[in-house]
Amino acid sequence: MTTSRRNFLQASLIAGSALAGAPHFSRAFVARSGEVADPPKPAFPVADYHVHLSPTLSIEQAVDLGKQRRVQIGVVEHPGPGYPIHIDADLKHYIDGLRPYPVRIGLQPVYAGWSKDFSKSLLDQLDYVLMDALTLPRPDGGWLAIWQIDTMVDDADDFMTRYMQFIEQVLTTEPIDIFAWPTFLPVPIARQYSQLWTRPRVDRIIELARAKKIAIEINELAHVPDENFITQAKQAGLKFTFGTDSRNQNAAHFYYCYQMARKCALTESDMFMPKRK
Ligand SMILES: [Zn+2]
Repeated sequence: MTTSRRNFLQASLIAGSALAGAPHFSRAFVARSGEVADPPKPAFPVADYHVHLSPTLSIEQAVDLGKQRRVQIGVVEHPGPGYPIHIDADLKHYIDGLRPYPVRIGLQPVYAGWSKDFSKSLLDQLDYVLMDALTLPRPDGGWLAIWQIDTMVDDADDFMTRYMQFIEQVLTTEPIDIFAWPTFLPVPIARQYSQLWTRPRVDRIIELARAKKIAIEINELAHVPDENFITQAKQAGLKFTFGTDSRNQNAAHFYYCYQMARKCALTESDMFMPKRK
């Protein structure tokens, strides 16, 4: 998203973190003090398919970071209200602007139904489309952006029911290649991750993703999904991507993703490959 998710992360760090897998933050601090070594880069080619260009990350800087860290860069931009891409001409301008660079070109729609604004021939020029289910439609109109630090959850089960409905919608009706931020929970209920992601809910997401051949993003920023989800998704034959959702020097910098790759024994054949070679 724009700056909101960065603010969300900073606020979480300051608050001592109530995120899923909160220990990774303390681990990050431990790692900095040198007590724990970074997990090794996997033996297979690695890509960061979730990089946003911004005033703090130019395309040249993103390409440089990818080279330094030996990671293929995939750039995404948002279409729709409040974002720079609205019609075919905008999308074409975006794609053509990135073509000279050695990056994958992706799109990260936010609002359901986004694809009707663009012609299929142009969408086919993209390497991939990545979408999350973090912008929930409200029953009374408008949206609830659940990554925001001040997201309120009155009733966890009600929330999960609505959230699952929207996840189902995204995974069944949206023309996407990658499901981003899977299983992320808003801050007030993040500590209940293992209780709220029940077996039936996890099974359902995996089933839907498998039916549409949608890959699962392992998200470096939010540290989702967890090891159990990844293991189960791998057993079901799903493919994975790594994503930093960065707009700065964090592009192509992986810790959680490499840790999960090792713990879940991911191999090259488990990883998503864009259609265009
Ligand atoms: Zn993003």
